[in-house]
Amino acid sequence: MVARRPGLIAHCADVSDVRTAVRIASDIGILTAVRCGGHSLAGFSTCNGGLVIDLSRMRDVSVNPDARRARVAGGCLLGSIDTATQKAGLVFPSGVVSHTGASGLILGGGTGWLTRRFGLSCDNVEAFTLVTADGSIARADSKENMDLFWALRGGGGNFGVVTEFELKLHPLNSVVLAEGLAPEDNIRKLLQCWRGFMADAPCDLKWNLDLRLAPHKSKVPAQLHGRPVAGNSLIWTGAPEAVEPYFQRAFSLCHPDSVRCQTVSYLDLQTMADSDFPHGRRYYAKSGYFNYLDDVTIDRFLEALATIPSPATQIELAYLGGVAGQVAAEETAFGDRSAPFIINLLANWADAVDDALHVSWIRSVFAKLRPTMKPGVYVNFMSGDEQDRVPEAYQQRWERMVTVKTHYDPGNFFCLNQNVRPQLYCC
Ligand SMILES: Cc1cc2nc3c(=O)[nH]c(=O)nc-3n(C[C@H](O)[C@H](O)[C@H](O)COP(=O)(O)OP(=O)(O)OC[C@H]3O[C@@H](n4cnc5c(N)ncnc54)[C@H](O)[C@@H]3O)c2cc1C
Repeated sequence: MVARRPGLIAHCADVSDVRTAVRIASDIGILTAVRCGGHSLAGFSTCNGGLVIDLSRMRDVSVNPDARRARVAGGCLLGSIDTATQKAGLVFPSGVVSHTGASGLILGGGTGWLTRRFGLSCDNVEAFTLVTADGSIARADSKENMDLFWALRGGGGNFGVVTEFELKLHPLNSVVLAEGLAPEDNIRKLLQCWRGFMADAPCDLKWNLDLRLAPHKSKVPAQLHGRPVAGNSLIWTGAPEAVEPYFQRAFSLCHPDSVRCQTVSYLDLQTMADSDFPHGRRYYAKSGYFNYLDDVTIDRFLEALATIPSPATQIELAYLGGVAGQVAAEETAFGDRSAPFIINLLANWADAVDDALHVSWIRSVFAKLRPTMKPGVYVNFMSGDEQDRVPEAYQQRWERMVTVKTHYDPGNFFCLNQNVRPQLYCC
């Protein structure tokens, strides 16, 4: 979707290279993009004619098993963190596709399988080291540059190039994973069951739903092929013997031949979705929160599912809460955590001739859902045409975001992101 041609790519090998690139580009005023994993749905990690600061040579991860801490360089992908931390039987809670960049994901917030158990990715950062717009190095943690520390946990790439994250780790090697498909006729009942059930569910349980067309795969019952279904994916991080009642409840509305339950290694869990989101596909997304999924909203989901335009497109629903929901709204820049339901309308298709069809489908479904949504949006699930929603992402935190931005980047050098404009900046 994003075909841009920068004038220059700086393949930085270390912090000193990043400082040189930032200083020169800032002095001469070149449009500059910062790239970690390149997964920005909005295409913010590249630009036409300007400079790309490419961090892909900065992928060191060092783990301190005793302290349960890791130092992670700014160009790491999630997979490099998982591989290094699993050698010590530890995990960092992050996203669900291993080729996503850690920097973009953590700076925006970071949700994934372990969000309810250990919090958002940004909740598990102890310190950031970054190169700011004037080329100097800053450290931000709970004692030093506290405003910056607050803003970096959810504020995206607005404040500088993060060259190192100091992360908290947690012990975990494997999880129980269960999957099943609910046929079309059961979806309404399933959504009604899920909305009530998750409110009291333990943090060890993550139950995600995706509404889509069932793939033509041998492990999918033939009568479901190509039909609208609700895919259920559950993981359980507690004692395996305690999971049965939760899974029974979840799968009572699924086709019995579609249900699978197994213990999987953490590395397998973290890579199982990789092939569903290959590079080179076309993606467009819109996202929002709900306090509650009322029956009108469920009707809208079912209407949308009936017109879904491609087999890879899906309506993803997740229930946050858990440890992520226990962090107060003002503690980090990341949005209000009180709305537990997060939805992501994600179109995924192959051919550019179908762009208009998919983009307009997402926009029309979003417009119908918008009236019952809670204001707010997760910046990492926003597309490139939603700049007007950035203040909505921060709401009561917006003024503080602008103040921190104005202090660290008064000329808006770091503008290719879900941008917080500094005060008195007018282009
Ligand atoms: C296939 C796929 C799966 C995804 N899965 C999840 C998921 O499970 N959970 C989730 O929360 N999100 C997920 N996302 C969204 C993802 O978090 C965002 O797209 C995120 O911005 C990607 O980070 P990146 O480093 O790969 O992207 P990039 O495109 O490299 O960068 C994204 C933004 O971050 C900035 N940036 C990058 N590196 C730095 C740095 N070191 N310092 C400062 N700014 C920097 C860039 O300038 C840009 O604005 C997914 C996206 C895709 C495409």
